[in-house]
Amino acid sequence: MKERVLSGMQPSGYLHLGNFAGALKNWVRLQDIYECFYCIVDWHALTSNYAAPAPIADYKQDMLLNFIAAGLDPNKCTIFLQSEVKQHAELHLLLSMITPLGWLERVPTYKEKQTEIKDKDLNTYGFLGYPVLQAADILVYRARHIPVGVDQIPHLELTREIARRFEFLYGQGILVEPEGLLTESPKVVGLDGRKMSKSYDNAIYLSDTPEIIEKKIKTMMTDPARKRKTDTGDPELSPVFALHKIFSSSEEIGRVAAACKTAEIGCIDCKAILIKNVLKVLQPLWKRREGLAKSPSVLKDILNEGNKRAATEAEKTMEIIRKAMKLSKITKAEIDINHAFMTLKELLIKHYHDEGKVKAEAAAEAEKTMGIIRKAMKIS
Ligand code: SF4
Repeated sequence: MKERVLSGMQPSGYLHLGNFAGALKNWVRLQDIYECFYCIVDWHALTSNYAAPAPIADYKQDMLLNFIAAGLDPNKCTIFLQSEVKQHAELHLLLSMITPLGWLERVPTYKEKQTEIKDKDLNTYGFLGYPVLQAADILVYRARHIPVGVDQIPHLELTREIARRFEFLYGQGILVEPEGLLTESPKVVGLDGRKMSKSYDNAIYLSDTPEIIEKKIKTMMTDPARKRKTDTGDPELSPVFALHKIFSSSEEIGRVAAACKTAEIGCIDCKAILIKNVLKVLQPLWKRREGLAKSPSVLKDILNEGNKRAATEAEKTMEIIRKAMKLSKITKAEIDINHAFMTLKELLIKHYHDEGKVKAEAAAEAEKTMGIIRKAMKIS
């Protein structure tokens, strides 16, 4: 039996080369080694985009399209939408009961992002609780391995701490403490040399046309020392070279580096090589996207199937968790053991039958309200 991997991506923008080379390519590789669950974490996108949720629907669609076009195979892995598996929300709530506030306040990205992102009010309960939702995403699948970059280790450590606290309070062997799968995922730089990110406006998107990609790469920063073609440069100081390292062959990387140091190549020619190589990598993905875009029902079916599979697995864990937290009722088998008298048993069974009816009615009422709320927040 394969060990389980869980990973998620937040639909807070269109997918770019950083997502592709930094995560997606690795996901494609992992699906042949592990039992992989890949989640579009749209509730996470709301933690910082709650005031303007409308574009998230488009981002989710773009993400799913690119997942499949990049090579994720629904027969090898489970692809699903977080908001369609309600067990994530339930576990988030339960874990929030046991997570000390101090643990969340000391997560480095909490303060960093609040300082960095000026145009949004992130002083919310949802944003502070983001790592608890992340812990729920992982623990609800009892995933053993989580592909992480070095900067995500504190988040994973928090998940591990929450899992330990849960087991300290409610019993051992209920949850699986996840381990980081430190995989080689390159840090992809953007047009300005900073990490490629939608929020820095320095990204090359998978949905960009070849012409736009060419235009963007032509405007990329280079080693500032190369003011003239005859100036020698240091490729390690050039964002263009950083992308060469990801998209060009080792032969070309070596050639470009040597030629940059001796000024044998100018930046325009160097960028032309990079453009050619980036387009070469993206051509097959675009071709598959084109095919998929013609049959939207295929994507819908993939997601529906993934949602179902994920919910089934999540529910298995939740049943154990509810029991451990004394939230679920005793089972009929337990009634049989504990109550020998038939009359009492019949009474209890009747009670559960009636209770089931009442529960179903209450759930239907609650669902009516949730349907309206999801529509208003653009997540349905
Ligand atoms: S030659 Fe290439 S690697 Fe060197 S500075 Fe110019 S763009 Fe960068």
